[in-house]
Formats: sequence, structure tokens, C-alpha cells
Amino acid sequence: MLAASFFALAAHAANIVVDTGHTPLRPGATAASGKVEYLYNLQFTNVLAGELVTQGEKVFRVAADGKEITLQERAIREPAADFFVSIHHDSIQQEWIDAGRRREFAGFSIFVSEKNPHYAQSLHCAREIAEQLLAIGEVLSLYHATLIPGENRPLIDRRLGIHRFDDLVVLKTATIPAVLIEAGVIANPDEEERFAKAETVQRLAHAIATGIRVCQKP
Ligand SMILES: [Zn+2]
Repeated sequence: MLAASFFALAAHAANIVVDTGHTPLRPGATAASGKVEYLYNLQFTNVLAGELVTQGEKVFRVAADGKEITLQERAIREPAADFFVSIHHDSIQQEWIDAGRRREFAGFSIFVSEKNPHYAQSLHCAREIAEQLLAIGEVLSLYHATLIPGENRPLIDRRLGIHRFDDLVVLKTATIPAVLIEAGVIANPDEEERFAKAETVQRLAHAIATGIRVCQKP
């Protein structure tokens, strides 16, 4: 019985919802080159989904088919899954762009909502993912905590770049643990160049998939 139980535990695959932020019609932020965020999100989630499968998880894709979908629909499409991750790439405030400050902003940030019914598990996973990203040398983007309208997101873990954003629709609507990741700041031309490389995406996707796998363990 022990061997059988061990096998069952080892073979357990978590069901992970991988949400591609935005749609082709409403593509999100604009990168320094003019390329839209949705395309970066799609490229990233294609690789992340592959990484999760390689690491033994089962993946459900949301918004990878290019069809319109509401934020609420995204979050509840797979209500019995174990974890929801939404992938985005960041812009910065227009006044910072206008002031020629694009290159000052780089790195990842992670968001959780206290209105999610599994806030503690969401935060636990956010921490595991951030640890993996820091371990491969990624840096934190902390400007969402700036005390100005449109930002002002409480930074609940400064070392790991984790913010609370209670009213983020996908996070508060999800009935399973959920995080949203801004993988990098594509409004910065240096960052955009980096994220255009398959090697960068592969490294980050591997780190995020590892963080997700680690936090699914009982
Ligand atoms: Zn976005």
C-alpha cells in the first residue's frame, strides 16, 4: 500500500490554467517598438504551457485562440483546476514616457488579491514564483507601489516584488488560487529586445513553471 500511495502522489499532476493577458482586439500595452502586449503574452504563455507540461502538470489555455473573452470568463473557465496564472508585460505611466524615462523601468512584478477565496495559497505561490525568478537573476519592478493615481498598489513583500491588487478582476473572480505576473517592462526598449529573444522567454517560463510546481506540493 505504501508503494501504491507513493506512486499516486508522485504521479499527481496539478491542473494549471494559463491565461494569456488581453486579446488581439484589445491588446493591452504598447511596447517601445509599437508591437502590442498581447503578442508578447502569447509568445510567453506558449512557452510557459510547454514548460508546465514538461514538468508534469496538466495545462488549460485561456485566450490563446485570439477570440474575445471577458475577464470574468477567463477566471471561471476551469473552476476545478488547481491554480490560475495570468501573464502580462508592462507599460509605464505616460508622463514617464513623455519625460524620456523608459529605460529606468525593468523587471517583473507579481499581483495577488485578498478577495480571492484562496488568498493564502495565492500568496504562497506568488512567493515561490518570485524566488525562482530572483534565483535566475531577474530584477524586481517596484514602480506599481508609487504613491500616484493609477499605481499605489500595496507592496506586501518588497524583497519578492509582490503587490496586493484586490480588485484585479481575474484574481478576485477566480475560485481557485490565482496570481498575475508582469514578466517585464516592454515599454523599455532594452527590456523589449530582451523579451524578443526565445532564450529569455524560455528562462523565465522555466522559472515560473518551477515556482508553480513547487507551490502545488501539499
Ligand atoms: Zn497587460
